Amino acid sequence: MTTVFIISAPSGSGKSTLVSQLMRQVAGLRFSVSYTTRPPRGQERDGQDYYFIKREEFEARAAKGEFLEYAEVFGNYYGTHQSELERAKAQGLDLVLDIDVQGARQLKKKIPAAVSIFILAPSRQILEQRLRARSQDSEAVIQRRLHDAAEEIRNYSQYDYVLVNREVESSVDTLVSIVKATRSRRDRMEEQIRPILETFTNA
Ligand code: 5GP
Repeated sequence: MTTVFIISAPSGSGKSTLVSQLMRQVAGLRFSVSYTTRPPRGQERDGQDYYFIKREEFEARAAKGEFLEYAEVFGNYYGTHQSELERAKAQGLDLVLDIDVQGARQLKKKIPAAVSIFILAPSRQILEQRLRARSQDSEAVIQRRLHDAAEEIRNYSQYDYVLVNREVESSVDTLVSIVKATRSRRDRMEEQIRPILETFTNA
């Protein structure tokens, strides 16, 4: 049984670090690589960070219904291809998605059992400090991201879990705990319980 974990956060919340630590610490997870029309940044590689495609190709794929969800974020399209979930299922892995609030809403509708987690910086001041510390963005971009963050944060109530990222190590622990607790849910355990019960009934 594959569980879908949806993780969203305004940029600068420390999401990428937390997600990569989660992937490192917990076995049996697959990270969903999205399609996007935005150009690659820095060290990003096609097929690893994203599948980078042209707008026309994205729109054609979307029209064919290839995406589980997709949205326009900061003027570019981003989408999760259906094959990501199919592969996770075929491999018996859980799927981790790093997607925005619009995509999270679409996916929760399609897959109500998906577990959604919203990551939040402790305050606007700290978010601003983190955005400046990355020093990748111009002042205009930083201001826009702060403005967008204020909008995104209002959507926290559509998520199952909210994680305030004060300190990386403890936030990673919380993320790991959410995954582990989900895996212990009864509906996830049925396959394992049956053979255990049999050992009792045959005794
Ligand atoms: P970035 O360009 O900084 O990598 O990502 C910008 C935003 O797009 C982030 O909030 C990220 O979570 C979101 N995003 C990345 N992939 C997807 C996707 O497949 N679908 C949706 N809806 N959002 C995505």
